[in-house]
Amino acid sequence: MIDLHTHTNKSDGTDSPRELVNKAIVQGLTVLGISDHDTTSSWQEATESLRGNLQLALGSEISCLTEDGISVHMLGLLFDGAHEQMQVMLEETRDGRLPRMRKMVEKMQAAGIDISMADVEAARPEGATLGRPHLADALVNKGVISTRDEAFQGMLNNESEFYVSHAAPTPAQAIAMIRKAGGVAVIAHPFASHRGQILKASDFQELVAAGLNGIEVDHRDQNPEEREMLRSIATELDLVITGSSDYHGSGKLNALAEFQTSPAQWEKLESLADKRRVVRA
Ligand code: AMP
Ligand code: ZN
Ligand code: FE
Ligand code: FE
Repeated sequence: MIDLHTHTNKSDGTDSPRELVNKAIVQGLTVLGISDHDTTSSWQEATESLRGNLQLALGSEISCLTEDGISVHMLGLLFDGAHEQMQVMLEETRDGRLPRMRKMVEKMQAAGIDISMADVEAARPEGATLGRPHLADALVNKGVISTRDEAFQGMLNNESEFYVSHAAPTPAQAIAMIRKAGGVAVIAHPFASHRGQILKASDFQELVAAGLNGIEVDHRDQNPEEREMLRSIATELDLVITGSSDYHGSGKLNALAEFQTSPAQWEKLESLADKRRVVRA
């Protein structure tokens, strides 16, 4: 069982890296990818918690914006965590998330909603990459809404009046940096249309030119038709096909390993990193 895309409480998941590794071991996963938003801060605890046969593919899910303002998530796996330029890129994105959150909170206050930055900070685990799910949790704590999911159906959706984007690299820039740091780049849920505007089939060629290695095809936010379109794009462009859960603990409905990557596709993906960086116990 191979699940290459999960989150911990170092971003907007609810399990600590140790808890996530333990769950993966209990469920019998063979490879676990850990990909917190715009950070590698989960890597150390995850590595220290590793035992048995589980292998770790450490990474990060990098928030990107196209020049047209479309939000894209790029999974970087198996890159050098000590790569300085990569860490600068991740840090710049994290820094931009604070003023962005202030703006979202101000818009809500202007609409008469009882919420403050202090409420959001109280809902954010220490050191976690700040994101809309923490604002959702703050709204739940305040009794404005009842779940994160409800928030994303309405007031925190990309199309909502309260939505504000934050500075981020373009998908091509993120891919180039992941590859420069020795890792592999897989575009996450590119056709997750209910989240907002998505890429077009013709956009993938340019990403391949930038060094894209794979497409996350099997993901709950993509319907069967969207998955088949992506599968054929991946086949045509000779890209690795992945499937993953995008597990966020209790912060999202996604169950660990609900979608998986085949051993053959994983082997191909791993061989494209500049070094063998899979972590073993
Ligand atoms: P942000 O990075 O701050 O723009 O927030 C986006 C994050 O919200 C993504 O990581 C998603 O995993 C999360 N998210 C999107 N939809 C939902 C949902 N329905 N329930 C919980 N979290 C969600
Ligand atoms: Zn998330
Ligand atoms: Fe994502
Ligand atoms: Fe994710």
